[in-house]
Amino acid sequence: MDIEEKILKLIKSKKNGILQNDLWKTAKIDSSKCSRIVAKLEKEGLISREHDSSKGSKTYLIKSIEKKEEKVKNYQLLLIEDIFSPCTGCSIECVPEQCINLSEWVIRL
Ligand code: SF4
Repeated sequence: MDIEEKILKLIKSKKNGILQNDLWKTAKIDSSKCSRIVAKLEKEGLISREHDSSKGSKTYLIKSIEKKEEKVKNYQLLLIEDIFSPCTGCSIECVPEQCINLSEWVIRL
């Protein structure tokens, strides 16, 4: 694992974010190297950074940005026998009680 991955993993492990002052100490790297890595991660859209002075010194609060594809998706409620609900992505204005596609899908329950 390279240092950039290590930093990103550390940031991801802190749900409420981590102060940049604490980050470089925890990662055991110097602050300027940490700043460069954090700037790169921010530019890549992997983290967010906002000013923080809650502990009396000016620093940044760094949080990981969860990518949509990283979210765990549970489609089980939309599936019957591996067939998606016909309502998934359907844009027809409808009366569900009268929809043949939905009725056929529900019958498989
Ligand atoms: S009930 Fe039928 S028409 Fe309505 S959203 Fe579902 S599939 Fe589409």
